[in-house]
Amino acid sequence: MGTIPSEMIEQIAAANDIVDVIGSYFPLKRAGANFKALCPFHQEKTASFIVSPSRQTFHCFGCGAGGSVFRFIIDYEHTDFPSAVRKLAARAGITVVETRGAESEDRRYEARRTLLKLHADAAEWFHENLLKGDVGESARPADTATLLATLLRAASQKQGMMQRARPVKGQVRTIASVEELFFRSATMSAK
Ligand code: ZN
Repeated sequence: MGTIPSEMIEQIAAANDIVDVIGSYFPLKRAGANFKALCPFHQEKTASFIVSPSRQTFHCFGCGAGGSVFRFIIDYEHTDFPSAVRKLAARAGITVVETRGAESEDRRYEARRTLLKLHADAAEWFHENLLKGDVGESARPADTATLLATLLRAASQKQGMMQRARPVKGQVRTIASVEELFFRSATMSAK
């Protein structure tokens, strides 16, 4: 089996709007610039599953599921990355041409997406907390600098908890663990 070139993966992603794709599985409700729904990956009564048309990502603040349009297909259809790519290629009428290659482009694609998403999630988490989180509540009347300091302190306390729970001494902290931190923070602040 060959490798699907990254340009082709980008092309397939561009041809499959994440709102249209997810919206074809279950209805999405507009919520400002985003869309939301009850999360299909965990039981919930209030919608914390957010789809962002501008970032072409989905994210659940309840269970931490999230990623690109491919990740949604992988998780929802219980399939793998190449199958998700082929499925969405077929949906957009694109013929997948595979090349011979040692390193898989899909991993690189997801890694790049993960980095982009990490930045977006961090921004979103801070934004959420500024608007309605417990941290934002107590600090809201203060000026922006105080607010940011409070949020950063809260974030670092949560990070401290993570480290106590799971020591990472001598290990290089991976992007995954940092991302998980933000997921946990989002989950904790949602409670
Ligand atoms: Zn969820």
